[in-house]
Amino acid sequence: MISFYPGPSRVYEEIPSYIKDAYRGGILSMNHRSAECMHLMKQTIRELKRKLRIPAGYTILFTSSATECWEVIAQSLINTKSIHIGNGAFAQKWYVYTKALNANTEYISFGINEVLNPDKTIFDSANLICLTQNETSTGTQVSDSILKKIKALNPDSLIAVDATSSMGGITLNFSSADIWFASVQKCFGLPAGLAVLICSPRAVKRALEIGESNHYNSLINQLQMAEKFQTTHTPNVLGIYLLYRVMQNSPTITQTHARVVAQAKKWYSFFDSHASLKTLIQNPNAKSHTVITVTATPPAIKAAKARARKAGILLGAGYGNLKETTFRIANFPAIKPAEINKLIRCLR
Ligand SMILES: *Cc1c(COP(=O)(O)O)cnc(C)c1O
Repeated sequence: MISFYPGPSRVYEEIPSYIKDAYRGGILSMNHRSAECMHLMKQTIRELKRKLRIPAGYTILFTSSATECWEVIAQSLINTKSIHIGNGAFAQKWYVYTKALNANTEYISFGINEVLNPDKTIFDSANLICLTQNETSTGTQVSDSILKKIKALNPDSLIAVDATSSMGGITLNFSSADIWFASVQKCFGLPAGLAVLICSPRAVKRALEIGESNHYNSLINQLQMAEKFQTTHTPNVLGIYLLYRVMQNSPTITQTHARVVAQAKKWYSFFDSHASLKTLIQNPNAKSHTVITVTATPPAIKAAKARARKAGILLGAGYGNLKETTFRIANFPAIKPAEINKLIRCLR
């Protein structure tokens, strides 16, 4: 089965051989306080910074999932209020999880074919602004220029960005926000169970000022351990090793971005001229590069999914209330051109 599911998604085909290497090299039973493990962490962080162009002064932490990152941010980085702006199920979930830990939390929604308006919303009272760069449930994205505007208009607030379904696939300008995170089972083409949490010096400073340390994963506890390339608990060492190998083997994000964006353009124009299948997002400034959501009547969606399945292709189901009227196509770097061509032939 060729998976076009936008997470967990197709993994790089080198993964089995990397796992074999990990077994042979003793990675699977490596002590997480050993010099070897600290070296692996250091190398992985170096590769991530180099390949994704993450500023040198930013700190990279390893967590288990994007969901854990939502909670870490809620428990360790809010001193007054947080505001969430979104247009889909993942932004909404982040808000719900945050609200459970911090009552002073607000959600502002905008339409899926609208561009997030940085002027219209009122962030004044919030010390933390939460945005979903790529909304996996609907297939929309927020541009760097909007992130920059929000940052410029709110110099005292921290900006946290969920980039779970875009990091590793497109170029992100990390200096436009303070906290970035992604789990690896989407654009990184890796098995689930690991996420990266990236903090700017400003975010680190804020965590220290707030001083919250009640949890094993409190940000200051994680930061303290990260200084010696360790974690607060036994981490997913295999996941970190696989991330290291994939990053080491991948071109710079600029090259990957060019390939992913060119393919996204092809997908959008394919559906523009399709008789019955259309893309849900029509606004060119809101369209995601990495998750293409296709809409049609429920019978046409069902038929397309069945035809794909027969051809050995798994399409991503529509998310939540979009289940009957959409399917999703992951446009992630691990998917091969031949596989894309096969899906095109099948949907034509
Ligand atoms: C998949 C996804 C998540 C959840 O990731 P987990 O690793 O399951 O916690 C969060 N946000 C976005 C935007 C996602 O696509």
